[in-house]
This record gives sequence, C-alpha cells and structure tokens, in this order.
Amino acid sequence: MTPFLRPQYRSLKPYTPGEQINANFIKLNTNESPFPPSPKVAEVLKSGIADRLRLYPDPTLGQLHRGVAQQYGLNEAGVIAGNGSDDVLAFAIMAYAGGGGKLVCPDITYGFYPVYADFFGAELATVPLREDFTINPEDYAGAGGTVVIANPNAPTGILLPLAEIEQIIATNPDNIVIIDEAYMDFAGQEHSAVSLLGKYDNLIVTRTLSKSHSLAGLRCGFALASKEIIADLNRLRYSFNPYNLSAITIAAASAAIADTEYYAERIATINATRERATAALTQLGFVCTNSQANFIFATHPKISGEELYNALREQKILVRHFALPRISNHVRISVGTEEEMGALLEAVRVSLSVEG
Ligand SMILES: *Cc1c(COP(=O)(O)O)cnc(C)c1O
Repeated sequence: MTPFLRPQYRSLKPYTPGEQINANFIKLNTNESPFPPSPKVAEVLKSGIADRLRLYPDPTLGQLHRGVAQQYGLNEAGVIAGNGSDDVLAFAIMAYAGGGGKLVCPDITYGFYPVYADFFGAELATVPLREDFTINPEDYAGAGGTVVIANPNAPTGILLPLAEIEQIIATNPDNIVIIDEAYMDFAGQEHSAVSLLGKYDNLIVTRTLSKSHSLAGLRCGFALASKEIIADLNRLRYSFNPYNLSAITIAAASAAIADTEYYAERIATINATRERATAALTQLGFVCTNSQANFIFATHPKISGEELYNALREQKILVRHFALPRISNHVRISVGTEEEMGALLEAVRVSLSVEG
C-alpha cells in the first residue's frame, strides 16, 4: 500500500473472486454454465461489429433496455443494465445506503454486499439465517435501512417463497429492498419478484446473464424497478461512467436475451443434473441444502469443508470453500455437465476413502 492511498480505503477488504484457473481442471467453483452461450451471440461477434468500435457505445443502452423490457413485460424506463449485475448492485447500494446509510442482509449470503457497504460508507447490519439456513422474513420487518436479499440465496441455493419476499418488501415501505435474482432463472420465473414491481415503489430486482445465460465473460446484468428508481441509478451512472457497457456487450447481450428457447433447454438440463448429483452425494452421506440454483451446497459428517476442497483440488477438480462461520464445513459445487459431475462423484468417493 502506498502512503498516497486515502485513509478511507486503507481498511477495505476487497471481495475475493473464485479462482479462474487455466490448467487442466474441472472448474466447478464460480457457478459458470458448462454450456456455450446462444449461437446468436457468436453471430453478433462475427457480424463485423469491430467496425463499430471506433464510435462510443450508446450511453442510453436503448437496444438492450428494450430487449430486457420486452422479455419481462415492462416499460424500458424501468430497466438499467450494468457491467455485470455487480455494477447495478453497486449503484443501488451507493444510492440508497452509501454515505452513512445502512445496509441490511443475511449473515450468510453473497460476499460482495458487505464489501460494497464498506466501500460506500454504509453501516452493515447482518441478520442470522435460521439454523437450517432459511430466511425468516419477520427478522426484516422495519429493518431501518436498505435491505438486500439474494433469492435463491448464495451460497445456500435456498429459495425464499414469493409471499415471504413480498412480506419483506411490504414491511419496509420507507426503505429500498433489493432482491438479487442472479439464480432465479434456475428456480423459475413464477418465484420472481418481478411480478411485484407494479405494486411496490421500494423494490429493485437484479438479474445477470453470467450464470443462466453462459455469459460470465461478457459482463452484463440489469436492475428492474420503478422509473423513478431507475432515474436515481442513472443519475449515479452518468456521474461515474456513462459508457459502462461496451458496444460488443450491448449487441451480444441483446441477442442472448431474445433467445429464450435456447436457454430454457440448457437450464432444464442443468437442473436435472443438479438433482441427480444431489441424490448421489446424499447416498454418499452428504447433507445438501434444497438448492434451486445451478450449484449444490453440501457438507459431510466425516470430512471438513477444507479437507474436501483440498482433496478434490489434488484430483484437479475445483469447487468453492468459504472459511466463514457456520459454513466452513460446506463446499459449494457448481453444476457442470453430466460427465463433469460423474468425475466429481468419483473424486468425492476417493476423497472420502482417504480422509474418512
Ligand atoms: C454471480 C452473482 C452476482 C454477480 O454476477 P455478475 O457476474 O456481476 O452479473 C450477483 N449476485 C449473486 C448472488 C451472484 O451469485
């Protein structure tokens, strides 16, 4: 650290992204899709888009916002895209909790929320999940700050029913409630808080193309909210970086979002693989949460989370381990292809026989 860095940044604890490994590993650690994106994305990249890169991209993100709005049956004034959903989450937390406000979230959830709270000067209040890792909506009534809930939650994969999500939104009329639906495509649209957008003026729903749409490398996510909230977020975006999405991202993401049929099939495959792998792990003595996402969250009575992580790593399979209270004996395993999950199960058997 140089002596030039401003004091407020000296104690930052940056988010630790999952390892991006190039070696010959089976990579089940960052919830990427094992399938390629829609072929429409490759068509865009081959369409001569390089010629357009001389010009700045459209700062209004009009094409992309119209595409998203059409998908969700919303008005485009209720959409803002970002460079990954992390980008829109950052704007939302900055706007509604930053500079001395408060951010309320579960004790076990997406690791970026506390980082953003710290970065933007928000007081963080964490609410413990129940013993079984479910959220008790009553714990959030009158939370006294901006609430952020991942649904399904990460890294547990557990879905909070829409009625309980609505309870949290309805019992916090004076604060913004952000529902981070990074994994909702796997759980099913009928559980999405998007259906509540017309009813509540304090709701923000975020989505990403990184997981369900096989586009983690493209960097595109978006927030859906009232047009007034979207105007707030654009105020910050235009004060920071109005060109936060490249022309390539705008065009490729628009093509992907339109190809619902392609993604519905891939999502169904991933969900079926998750169910088979979960059953096989349970047979081996694991306890798995009821994950509705594209990952499995599992613990075994005979091997610690760290030992399992290391044993799998030695067998060239990368999963995610969080050295955090309450979940240090769990591993999070992204759902890969059937073949990858077969190899995982084999490596798990080896790990259990060595360590157990
Ligand atoms: C992956 C993830 C995100 C961020 O995804 P982006 O790649 O930035 O779109 C946000 N929230 C949760 C809960 C996630 O797991």
